[in-house]
Amino acid sequence: LNRRLAEFGTTIFAEMSALAVETGALNLGQGFPDTDGPEQVREAAVRALRDGRGNQYPPGPGVPELRAAIAAHQQRFYGLSPDPDTEVLVTAGATEAIAASLLALVEPGDEVIALEPYYDSYAASIAMAGGTRVPVMLHPAAGEAPHGAADEHATDKDESEEGGADASGADRADRADRADRADRADRADRADRADRADRADEYATDGTYRLDLDELRDAITDRTRLILLNTPHNPTGTVLSRAELAAVAEMCVEHDLLAVTDEVYEHLVFEGTHHPLASFPGMRERTVTISSSGKTFSFTGWKVGWVTGTPALVSAVRSAKQYLTYVSAGPFQYAVAEALALPDDYYTALREDLRAKRDLLARGLRAAGFGVFRPAGTYFITTDIRPLGATDGTAFCLDLPRRAGVVAVPTQVFYDHAEAGAPYVRFAFCKRKGVLEEAVTRLKRLA
Ligand code: PMP
Ligand code: GLN
Repeated sequence: LNRRLAEFGTTIFAEMSALAVETGALNLGQGFPDTDGPEQVREAAVRALRDGRGNQYPPGPGVPELRAAIAAHQQRFYGLSPDPDTEVLVTAGATEAIAASLLALVEPGDEVIALEPYYDSYAASIAMAGGTRVPVMLHPAAGEAPHGAADEHATDKDESEEGGADASGADRADRADRADRADRADRADRADRADRADRADEYATDGTYRLDLDELRDAITDRTRLILLNTPHNPTGTVLSRAELAAVAEMCVEHDLLAVTDEVYEHLVFEGTHHPLASFPGMRERTVTISSSGKTFSFTGWKVGWVTGTPALVSAVRSAKQYLTYVSAGPFQYAVAEALALPDDYYTALREDLRAKRDLLARGLRAAGFGVFRPAGTYFITTDIRPLGATDGTAFCLDLPRRAGVVAVPTQVFYDHAEAGAPYVRFAFCKRKGVLEEAVTRLKRLA
């Protein structure tokens, strides 16, 4: 293995899913649904296979039906109108889209800013492109507000459209509290086990994660080439507000940066609204937008993803993609074209089903003694294990199948600053209700 890849072993997802199979534990680790997507979409794939559509190399940019459907989807949900012929590229999942974008746009030595914690393929793709990753931390913030108030806050923030001024103001105020919170966390850590119930209270208020826009601004240097953004964010469930995105957009324009934005969880938003970064002033011409059918239609095994952007950006990404996979998944492309055209009801039902599962698992994890960060989007919940008397998420997850018959993912693996991620563990809730209930029953035995 060359030096660029030496630090990347087996992905945590493969490792933890193997552990689930080996131990027979419930797998709330790797993010994949345990129920397949819509029957009619599966039928569409069967029809394509049977009718000989896509069984031989499809066109390089993707089959025209899918490119048209991707453009129509962007128009329907966001009012964006990419040209299906020149501004859409079909990829082998979002994973290839990310890799091809970085390989196409990053020169060796360029700096790439990414929100930390970040999805594991970002670091490897930046490294393969010869870039240098510059992490900007999302900060855990204990949730002071009860549910209702937190909702109002999210809505207020989302509707304040003043170019990020509000967000940075709020975040600055927030920063003042942060040292204090860290202090409190330390004290809690030192408290003795008899105090566990009290400590559980302290962490059990729903927390969230915050982007500090000043820190993002400070991370930009002469060598910054692009910002690799992810909203809704894996693993924290953060959905960046309109004001935050407007501020990111302003920074990109001011410093003439490109943005690669991973929006695979665009339809899994429970609070606030998903805004594509490409929809902000000055961003259309500098943003590569990435999404995938894996999350939206529950077909993670099909590996149909896509990129949209200007003809110049899409053609650059296509240059890299040509030599990675050339083309991919012919028959599935036809099926995903049909999936994207499903009525709004489909998208609403997907979201509401996952919202109920989020609430079920969050409640259960809280009852089991975990500190819970309430995700505004995605299908992951990040938890704090310190109320359970543990501090090392990796050791905790390796032992969890034996102790509780459940698999989860240590959030630490998404961090460069490993110590910052140590006490956090991620659970996926894209699983059947019965599975989540059984997992909760088992996890309650930990207390
Ligand atoms: N980006 C994020 C943030 C993800 O969580 C995932 C995981 N599925 C991907 C990209 C990869 O998507 P795909 O399966 O379409 O390659
Ligand atoms: N995105 C999924 C997760 O975060 C897993 C994808 C993968 O295994 N590469 O769990």
